[in-house]
Amino acid sequence: MDPRTLLSTDHECQVKHIAGGCYYHFGVTDALMTELNSACDLNELIDTLTLHVNIDGLPLSRSSAVHLWPILGRIKELGNSNVFLIGLYSGTSKPSSVHEYLKEFVDELKVVIQEGLHFNGKHYKIAAPEAFICDAPERAFLKCVMGHSGYNGCECCIQTGVYVSGRMTYPDLTAELRTDSQFEEMVDEDHHTGVSPLKDLGVGLVTSFVLDYMHLVCLGAVRKLLYLWIKGPMKCRVSASVLSLVSQQMASLRLNIPKTFSRKPRSLFEVAMWKATEFRLFLLYTGPIVLRKNVPHNLYKHFMLLSVARRILLSPDLCLEFCEYANQLLQVFVENSAKIYGPEFIVYNVHGLIHLAQDARKCGPLDQISIRKLK
Ligand SMILES: [Zn+2]
Repeated sequence: MDPRTLLSTDHECQVKHIAGGCYYHFGVTDALMTELNSACDLNELIDTLTLHVNIDGLPLSRSSAVHLWPILGRIKELGNSNVFLIGLYSGTSKPSSVHEYLKEFVDELKVVIQEGLHFNGKHYKIAAPEAFICDAPERAFLKCVMGHSGYNGCECCIQTGVYVSGRMTYPDLTAELRTDSQFEEMVDEDHHTGVSPLKDLGVGLVTSFVLDYMHLVCLGAVRKLLYLWIKGPMKCRVSASVLSLVSQQMASLRLNIPKTFSRKPRSLFEVAMWKATEFRLFLLYTGPIVLRKNVPHNLYKHFMLLSVARRILLSPDLCLEFCEYANQLLQVFVENSAKIYGPEFIVYNVHGLIHLAQDARKCGPLDQISIRKLK
């Protein structure tokens, strides 16, 4: 009837009832062993394994309120590492306690970091996770800090946000940067909402929480720019005739987009339906062509600051050598954003761009630490 009949697989799973839902812990050790077993490109020189961790909620179906909150991992040193499941929470809302939700994960990982792992006669050290790759609400949840719309919401620098036109903005581009030790000592009291359970792992709660460029750039700054051009205040808008011309040129590129891109370019007037990958295609490839000579020169130059900076930070060849240059481009982009589009444009996602280069400096090309890599 089924392989489960033959193998007498358990039909029941011992879940724990925690934080308002159910949780099952698959285990870090088991996941790492399975991953090492299936690794065909395991370099003999590797003796330390580093985890990248992703936590995010996803609906189980459209017709129910039940959500899953998996704890996912991958091994940085294995180029083609699979994404594996460490723990799985299910409930009708977010776990009510981050301490209960992460308890088994933290407890087990502490032991694994301390003792390492034996595989095929070799001892591997397990480093504390290098990067937690999550979107902004999850980062705030895991770190126990203010959300991205709070006055002290920037995770990388110490500044009090300013409320402009109903939006929280972070206008200061030179504010003092947060450090792991300051975070641990809770120097900026207004930033914290509690003590994170991840503190026990010895990870840097500032430097290990990378900003996800998919949300920050693709679904953040680029989408915001296009919305302003299409339906923003009059001072930000691009004329309908120019938008039509740009859309036509994008449609004409459809035949020339290689199959490696999952989606073809489409009209700017359909931007509400664009996926993150379409914003990426626009920012890096089609935008620089179709906007040139069409949109006003100052808008084009401003757009290109972001495009070139992203190109550098995503490229394994350029990322480290030109990281500081990309950082300068992003600083100028954000500075000029306020001049062109007004101070209300410098919301969390746009302000966060000035902190992106430091993640690339630590972890390498941003594609390696993107949520896209973990989906
Ligand atoms: Zn900041």
